[in-house]
Amino acid sequence: MPNRTTKTNCRLCSYLCGLEAQIEDDKIVSLQPDPSRYPYDVGIVKGCPRFHSNLEFLNHPQRINHPLKRAGERGENRWQQISWEQALNEISEKLLHLRENFGAETLATSIGGPHTTFWPLHRFMNLFGSPNNVGIGQICWNPSIWVNSLTFGWPLENEIDPETTGCAILWGVNPAESDNSLFWRQVLAYNLTGKPLIVIDPRETRTARLATHWLAPNPGTDAALALGMLHVIIAEELYPQQFVEQWCHGFEQLKQQVADYTPQHVAQITGLTTQQIIQTAQLYAHANSASIFHGRGIDQIGANSVQVHRAIACLKGLTANIDRPGASYLSEMPEYIPEIDLELTDRLPAEQRQKQLGRDKIKLQTFEGYERLTRYTLQHGKQLPARYLTSAQPNLVWRAMLESQPYPIRAMIVSGSNPLICQADSELIAKALQSLDLLVALELFPNSVTALADYVLPMAGSLERPVLQTNAGVANIAYGGPQAIEPLHERRCDYDFWRELGLLCGQDEFWPWEDFTTSLDNILNPLGLTWESFCETGIYAPAPEYRKYESYEKNGQPGFATPSGKIELYCEVLNEVGSSPLPVHQSQPGASAEFPLLLITGGRKQPHWASSFRWLKTLKKPGTVPQAEVSKATAESLGLEHGQQVVVETPHGKTSFTLSIVIMKDNVVNVDYGWWFPEQSLAAPELGGAFTSNANMLTTASFETSDPILGQWIYNRIPCCIYPAQPVGQTTTDTNHLQQVPASKEN
Ligand code: SF4
Repeated sequence: MPNRTTKTNCRLCSYLCGLEAQIEDDKIVSLQPDPSRYPYDVGIVKGCPRFHSNLEFLNHPQRINHPLKRAGERGENRWQQISWEQALNEISEKLLHLRENFGAETLATSIGGPHTTFWPLHRFMNLFGSPNNVGIGQICWNPSIWVNSLTFGWPLENEIDPETTGCAILWGVNPAESDNSLFWRQVLAYNLTGKPLIVIDPRETRTARLATHWLAPNPGTDAALALGMLHVIIAEELYPQQFVEQWCHGFEQLKQQVADYTPQHVAQITGLTTQQIIQTAQLYAHANSASIFHGRGIDQIGANSVQVHRAIACLKGLTANIDRPGASYLSEMPEYIPEIDLELTDRLPAEQRQKQLGRDKIKLQTFEGYERLTRYTLQHGKQLPARYLTSAQPNLVWRAMLESQPYPIRAMIVSGSNPLICQADSELIAKALQSLDLLVALELFPNSVTALADYVLPMAGSLERPVLQTNAGVANIAYGGPQAIEPLHERRCDYDFWRELGLLCGQDEFWPWEDFTTSLDNILNPLGLTWESFCETGIYAPAPEYRKYESYEKNGQPGFATPSGKIELYCEVLNEVGSSPLPVHQSQPGASAEFPLLLITGGRKQPHWASSFRWLKTLKKPGTVPQAEVSKATAESLGLEHGQQVVVETPHGKTSFTLSIVIMKDNVVNVDYGWWFPEQSLAAPELGGAFTSNANMLTTASFETSDPILGQWIYNRIPCCIYPAQPVGQTTTDTNHLQQVPASKEN
């Protein structure tokens, strides 16, 4: 093809920034931000380190370029190159054989990854008959989707606007380091106004340094803080009484519930001062429009995860910061074909839904829970994607692999995720994956999971596949764009894998779109757009509407899509399933003589994305090492020094880090998340240094410490200790990461 410039999009995070690619001889020779497309700001794109790594990402010598079949023992990391046809035929034959012997539930999937599209995986799984997909969704965004839907009838979007927002709270979220892009720019713009910016985080993060007020509560006590704020707002009558009377359900019960959460009582639980609690409540309630943004910091506090989200939802409802400019608004059902219609959850038979692992232990993150919620959202013609609200409990999936209880899981397809690094209890996961009859990895780069796999399939990534972001089907927004070039080598789009596997498993009638682009034509058709016409602007985002509850009709009345038709301060659905209908702080195990400190982890640090991008030299900063952070007082009390190698140990395991002394809550240890070492041998037992400095050596997803309603496991508030590491010898290196053996004769 002639040399040309073409539109494309970065896919190294979910912003999908618009780019222009210069192509010569079918190769991308340079990339520039496209100022005519989202995010319309060249500075944002140029300021992003990942943008500059795109060409290295595309052409990296370690990219997986061909289908590979295991040639040695599992974990030896020896491979034979095979054709796609052979790979798909063999995988489908094995899956059908396993289904015949153990039932469809014997297949599990692990979802994630910046190069994947979620609905094709779920479509395949529902048609195959298995309810067992796992991911880290439960500790990332899922509780807010659930809780806002329970409280307001649908998920919320939050706004931070210099003109309309009067107070902003960033609760357990650190956009300076986890985002460093559009959201962070919005925070910076808001901050120039001098209006209150309150950051709640045990660490003085870069975001906290910007704040007008920084609160550092004891880990895992956020629900108590939110309840204390509710107490102050109600006691001082800082809420709009007419709005509450007209639109809130259960005010009197909430008032009674928070009566005991006095600032003095909450100060004892949280370690904050009474003045901090009172002032935060007053600043929030006095603002004409106030926003609360929250992140993984409060998604992953185990048994208090749902409770803190419920208490924050009550704060938003009680102060009428709902469907209000500069605060929060209810998003809309997509006007294009939504994910719920693409997943085909209705094709998963009832008896298979009942086999989902965790169904008998978790109250709402189940198909039954989803149906309870959907009864109400459908009153406003809305339906959330089922896959996000019905995942299997990972801990039970790993145990079913090892113990065949309550039934055997013998196969897993891992789509762009590395559960061994990113999910709780890495040792358990490593053993579980090694016990399988079939492990397939759809990946971009070799990692500890590909090293254990039977088949590794090369995925197309950023710049070589179309990308469309639809906010998981919970909002009427879509943005994205085309690939710049055809996939290199034998890389393929994940859609192609799921479709072709589906065809080989007898799903012919359900995969009418021959390629991903054709499926996108179908998705956009209700908007009168094709994929090609959509790509001219690359965005569909109608302006938000406010005060919609005044016009939504329910039984002839305006309102919210909840059982009461109002904002549910008292949640009827939680009451139905035997959980507390009012938010409550649950006391959790604290420090002990053996484990005198509290661990927190899971925070995202740019430029990496969890375990991703560790191969890229352009993203490596010299001297960056996995760190354990403590305060100066904590380090001194333990006789530890900055830069020293330390071991962090919990009741679940131990792993090592370099000590960093920072400003943060005393007696708390924050450890980096997502670390592994591609420069080390990928073969077992090292698995790319998967156990060297891996935060998930310290965690567990067991039910004793998880949320009983949605199953969030705990990352923040794990009792731990920390001590000097023994000097270690040199690590082994193995640069032949995908050691291949010659193809066998039958190929
Ligand atoms: S990584 Fe994200 S913010 Fe950075 S250029 Fe790519 S899409 Fe944009």
